[in-house]
Amino acid sequence: CGIVGYIGTEDAKEILLKGLEKLEYRGYDSAGIALRNEAGVHVFKEKGRIEDLRRIVDMRIAATIGVGHTRWATHGVPSRENAHPHQSASGRFTLVHNGVIENYTLLQKEYLTDVPLKSDTDTEIIVQLVEKFASEGLETAEAFRKTLTLLKGSYALALLDEKDGNTIYAAKNKSPLLVGVGNGFNVVASDAMAMLQVTDQFIELADGEMVILTRGQVTIQNLAGETITRQPYKAEIDA
Ligand code: GLU
Repeated sequence: CGIVGYIGTEDAKEILLKGLEKLEYRGYDSAGIALRNEAGVHVFKEKGRIEDLRRIVDMRIAATIGVGHTRWATHGVPSRENAHPHQSASGRFTLVHNGVIENYTLLQKEYLTDVPLKSDTDTEIIVQLVEKFASEGLETAEAFRKTLTLLKGSYALALLDEKDGNTIYAAKNKSPLLVGVGNGFNVVASDAMAMLQVTDQFIELADGEMVILTRGQVTIQNLAGETITRQPYKAEIDA
């Protein structure tokens, strides 16, 4: 299982699909991508292989920001409904997740009793929490941070906000996630392999960190909101 995210100026769907193919070795039962353009966020997901996903992606959609996922089901059977990306009730937020949220039932009972769920996954609770806190008035980064402070378990996450075509939010705890740095673009991936197609400059993330990616900037913060400065390294891997 793995995640990828791209924000830049190139066609995101091809970069994401190629990235997911590079992560196939990690094992998976379903795959999906979300693409955001002026018309909104478009989600494509399918049980099965990346080649099955490729068949249902609308190749006419041009987008320069998006996220992708290969799923190894832990909560909820392998199915299209349970495949990632998952979206919040209004559709504003779109999320991919690797890992396991141990307290998702508790969080659902505490915060989301009035929210109808669309899947059986632990992941959906995360994206619904972000929407809940955003609807209460928090900026997306703060709604995401507040959600992260409530989660117990492992996660690599990448989040899109339909209202903002210039930002990917990501975070990591006990699941692998790297930032890849480019000239006019930035990426995230579970494994550098997935993004060697576009960059060999990577920044490691530590557990409990979140990162805000724009086309020109990477901002790493801890859950207290403090900014962390860390230089990229050059990945020495044969692609
Ligand atoms: N726990 C999540 C699910 O079952 C993510 C699994 C994964 O890491 O792919 O959907």
